[in-house]
Amino acid sequence: MRFEISKVLDAIEGRVCTDPSLVRAVVDLAEVIRYQDIDGGRPASLLRLGMVIDALSRQLEEDSVPVYAVVHRALLSDADLTSNERMVVRRWADDGLVEVLDNPGDRMLEVADLLGLPVLSRVRFDGLRGRFPWLVEQPGRILAPVPGAGGPAFVAHVGGGDTPVSGDRSPAGVKLLAREWRCPESGCALFGSGGGGSFADLARVQRSPAAQAPPSLRNGVPTCPRHGTRLRDAGPRPRTEVLAVRIGGLVRRRFVLSEEQPVLVGRAPEGDGGIVLGQWLNDEARRWISRNHLRLELRVGEVIVTDISTNGSGIRPGGSMAEGDRVPLAPKQSRVLAENDMVELYPGVQVGRAEELPTGAPFTPASVMAEAPTMAMRLPRP
Ligand SMILES: [Zn+2]
Repeated sequence: MRFEISKVLDAIEGRVCTDPSLVRAVVDLAEVIRYQDIDGGRPASLLRLGMVIDALSRQLEEDSVPVYAVVHRALLSDADLTSNERMVVRRWADDGLVEVLDNPGDRMLEVADLLGLPVLSRVRFDGLRGRFPWLVEQPGRILAPVPGAGGPAFVAHVGGGDTPVSGDRSPAGVKLLAREWRCPESGCALFGSGGGGSFADLARVQRSPAAQAPPSLRNGVPTCPRHGTRLRDAGPRPRTEVLAVRIGGLVRRRFVLSEEQPVLVGRAPEGDGGIVLGQWLNDEARRWISRNHLRLELRVGEVIVTDISTNGSGIRPGGSMAEGDRVPLAPKQSRVLAENDMVELYPGVQVGRAEELPTGAPFTPASVMAEAPTMAMRLPRP
C-alpha cells in the first residue's frame, strides 16, 4: 500500500509544473487537498490533487495534463498531511514545480489572466470581477471541482457548464513571456540565476528558460512572486513550439521544443528530455518503433524532423489520414514539418503541433494502444 501511494504521488508529480506552454489550468493546492466530500477520506490528502487532475484530463480528452499549482507556505507544515505528503510538497516547492507563497492573494487569478487558463476552485472571486472581467465574460474560465460519479466533476461558476475553457494570454502575459527573468535571491526555484547559487541549487534549477513561470506584476514591475523582489530582464526567451504525441486517437502528452536543444522521440530514447512512448504501445508497435526514432529540432522557427530509426516513418501532409496521403520518411531523411503536417512513426502513432492535433478519437479494435490505462494516473479507489 505504501509503495502504491508513493507511485501515485510520483504520477501526480509529473502533472504539476509552472511551464507556461504546458499547463492547462490553475489550482490552489491548499484548497483542493481539503475537498473532503470528493472521497470522504482524511481532512487533507494530496491524492485529491491527482483526482482533480484526472477529472481535467477526462474533460479535455487528453492524457498527461499538467496544472499550475499555487500553494500557501503553511501547507509545507500542514499537520493534516502525512509526513510523506509534506516531504513531497516540499520537494515540489524546492524544484519550482509549484509556486509557494507567503501570501498567495490573487496570484492564482493573475496566473490565469497572464496565461489565459481556466481556474479550478470553489472560491467565486466575486470581488475580483472588475479586475479580471473574464471571470464573468467567459463561462468555463472558473469551475468548482465537486463530487461526481467516478471522481470529481466540474461546475462552472458562471453558466453552469462543465467544460474548462481557455482564453488568450493577456497582453501583459504576452510581453512578460517574451523575456527571460532573473531573481536576485540565490537559488530562487522559479527565477533562478543558474549561477551564484550552490551546486545543489544549480542542479535543481537547471531548467529551460523557455519553461520559466510568468512573473508577477506589481505596479507594472515584473516581480518574483515568491520573494517580492524586482526581476532583472535577462534577454529574449528562446523561441518554442508546443508539440504533441497522439496514440490511438488520443493525445498522450504535449512537449516543448525550443531552439536550445533537439528532442528525441521513440520507444525509450537515451538521455534526458526524450519522449518515451513504450508504455503506450502494443507489441507490434513496440517492435516497429526504435528506441530513438525521431529527432525534432526548432531552427529559425521551423520544426525539422529527422528519422533516426531502423524502419522509417511517414509524413501526413496537412494531417490527412487518407491512406494514399502518407509520404514515406526513410531512415536518416529530414523534412520541415509544415503547420499542420504530422509525422507518423507507426500507424496510429503521430507527432505534430499540439494546436493542430485533434484528440479524443474513439478507440478502434485495431488500436495501437497497449493495455495501459487510458489516463496514466490510476488512483486507488477511496
Ligand atoms: Zn525569487
